[in-house]
Amino acid sequence: MIVRVLGSAAGGGVPQWNCGCSNCMRARNGEAPMRTQSSIAVSADERTWLLVNVSVDLARQFAATPELWPAAARATPFAAVLLTDANVDHTAGLAEMRQDPDAFVVVSTPVVKSLLVSQLAYERFDRPPHRWIACDPSDRDIARDIGDAVAAQFEILIIDVPGLLPGYAGRGTARGAVVAYVLRERATGASVLIAPVFSDFDEILMKEARTSDVVLLDGSFYSDDEMPRDGLMRKTARSLGHAPIGGVDGTLARVSDLANRRVFVHLNNSNPVLDPASAAAQNVAAAGCEIAYDGMRIPIERT
Ligand SMILES: [Zn+2]
Ligand SMILES: [Zn+2]
Repeated sequence: MIVRVLGSAAGGGVPQWNCGCSNCMRARNGEAPMRTQSSIAVSADERTWLLVNVSVDLARQFAATPELWPAAARATPFAAVLLTDANVDHTAGLAEMRQDPDAFVVVSTPVVKSLLVSQLAYERFDRPPHRWIACDPSDRDIARDIGDAVAAQFEILIIDVPGLLPGYAGRGTARGAVVAYVLRERATGASVLIAPVFSDFDEILMKEARTSDVVLLDGSFYSDDEMPRDGLMRKTARSLGHAPIGGVDGTLARVSDLANRRVFVHLNNSNPVLDPASAAAQNVAAAGCEIAYDGMRIPIERT
């Protein structure tokens, strides 16, 4: 199995068009890599791909990833789009996919589907040739719902995680507001937990993190108060539905004892870990964790 981080940033990317923070300025000046918005591709054979979230940067991300180039005059290299939530930065790529006459499947929880269909007008993906599967988190393998070809390669579980509805829907709580996915390759048993958004690293996430070979984690913010402190936005990380990486109750403290490969994704441009010289980045490295970057290849093998 191979995981490709197509986009490693949170909403806005790095640089964000209206942000003059030090991380955004370093990216503009060429002193740090630019980062597109969060999207992750997974494949067992590097021919058929599953996408976890689709950002507005989709075209640029696909262009930078030869494995995702069309194999014919018009061809779609992915079988399904798995959505973790209804945030605009994770779903705006659907607007680009309107040009696609090939069938693909969208997977989300019922509440996410209903928000995207009613508020963002994506009901076209609930009609042929496409299908939109609305599933609540459960222990059930949903791969067969996507199709036999995907089910032959993967077991797919939807994991309930703590989180909030998007800002445009009031940022309240709702069943299925945010989920994570576990993809397990049938041939090898290799598995990845993809959890780019959560407001708390709870026991359910811990259980899945312990048993997955690779874990992709919400790395939006290092400190709960970094945005108000740096004058970027009044809101804290947790009020936006993201557990911070650092601090006594942060994600790093929870995962520092795990032995598997742990990678922070969905990095907000305010996050000091984007500067490798920062204390935050050094804390992440000292815990044996990694910071994702656009184009990162994560092969997962089991023998
Ligand atoms: Zn996001
Ligand atoms: Zn910035």
